[in-house]
Amino acid sequence: MTSALTAELESSTINNAYTTAIAQYNRAASFLDLPSDIIDYMRYPRREFTVNFPVRRDDGTIEMFTGYRVHHSTILGPSKGGIRYSTHVDVNEVRALAMWMTWKCALMRLPFGGAKGGVVVDPRHLSYNELERVTRRYASELVPMLNPQSDIPAPDMGTTPQMMAWIMDTYSMTVGYSVPAVVTGKPLSIGGSEGRVVATGRGVILAMMEALKRQGRTDAESISLAIQGFGNVGSNAAHYAHSQGFQIIAVSDVDGGIYNPNGLDIPALLTYYDKNGRLGGFPEAEIISNTELLVLPCDVLIPAALESQITASNADDIQADLIVEAANGPTTPEADDILNDRGVLLIPDILANAGGVAVSYFEWVQDLQSFFWDEEEIFRQLERIMVRGYDATIRTAEKYNVPLRTAAQIAAIQRVADALMTRGIYP
Ligand code: GLU
Repeated sequence: MTSALTAELESSTINNAYTTAIAQYNRAASFLDLPSDIIDYMRYPRREFTVNFPVRRDDGTIEMFTGYRVHHSTILGPSKGGIRYSTHVDVNEVRALAMWMTWKCALMRLPFGGAKGGVVVDPRHLSYNELERVTRRYASELVPMLNPQSDIPAPDMGTTPQMMAWIMDTYSMTVGYSVPAVVTGKPLSIGGSEGRVVATGRGVILAMMEALKRQGRTDAESISLAIQGFGNVGSNAAHYAHSQGFQIIAVSDVDGGIYNPNGLDIPALLTYYDKNGRLGGFPEAEIISNTELLVLPCDVLIPAALESQITASNADDIQADLIVEAANGPTTPEADDILNDRGVLLIPDILANAGGVAVSYFEWVQDLQSFFWDEEEIFRQLERIMVRGYDATIRTAEKYNVPLRTAAQIAAIQRVADALMTRGIYP
């Protein structure tokens, strides 16, 4: 039986994040011995929420904004996932990101389903006060969807711990008491967790180190990295990799990148970027474009920006032999096939960037218990969860003889399916 959703997607000629997510899902699910109606069930987002809301700009005019929140699955627990502020946000992107959160949480054995939210806005074009009004109004529109037991947002591209504080405050003022556990990635002063800000980037490098270790490549100084994206994830990945002795030869942000084949001084670059808000002009580095960065000669490529960056048109030109997906969905299914044929090892997003949601899980647990852990404990638990997720992926890859992306999704889908069939269908 072909469901309405499958038919709609199959007739679509548009190539977007959601068609990628569904193609990956179909591929992974085909290896599992599951009833076809169960496979169809998990393809659907459980709920989709669209809100259009007014915000007063600093000049007194009113502007309308559009936001989304999609709950893909609540089978394994409350839905979990970030909120993105970007002009690229649309319902299909949010659907894809929500589905990937379901598989990410399931693979890492976190007791969560998957969700994602987004507002169509370029946060760089709004003042601090305007961002506060956008965030509070969006949060108030989402109040019926949010709850520490049902849906817990977090930061994603374009959002910050301060914005999570405004969401926590808006929710708390509405219900009449403080609810820190309704959102993660908050500042420490209101129930945030040690280590959360750096968790995704650190987890990406832990996943990379695990892959290199298994290949017998332990001499960090001899390994060069190119990182696309210098937001929270890319910059913290660069920082942690540098502290472990790796050579970061190129980084980029939306405006383009910089390259030095002998390695960039990352601590100095972080200070420079903080001060100037751009990479260009950093001493002893050549200016390159984002497309050039992807095909530089290097050992490890870390896409840490948007979806669909590695495609059929550039996959053949990539020179790295290890790709670690810090971004969600940076590689299209066609590019996956090309890279796999070429023997390039790819650590997929739902494993590589799961450090963020892992520490979000620790934050939620700490808030619910009102009992807080130190940074050492957070980092120890983060490493344990990353290595456990890596092991589960490798075991599945060996069992089914598939690349790591398909393996990670097979393991995740199997877990969600087991829970779904054990719970049964209501009513
Ligand atoms: N936005 C992050 C992600 O894509 C973190 C989500 C969370 O912590 O809930 O995994």
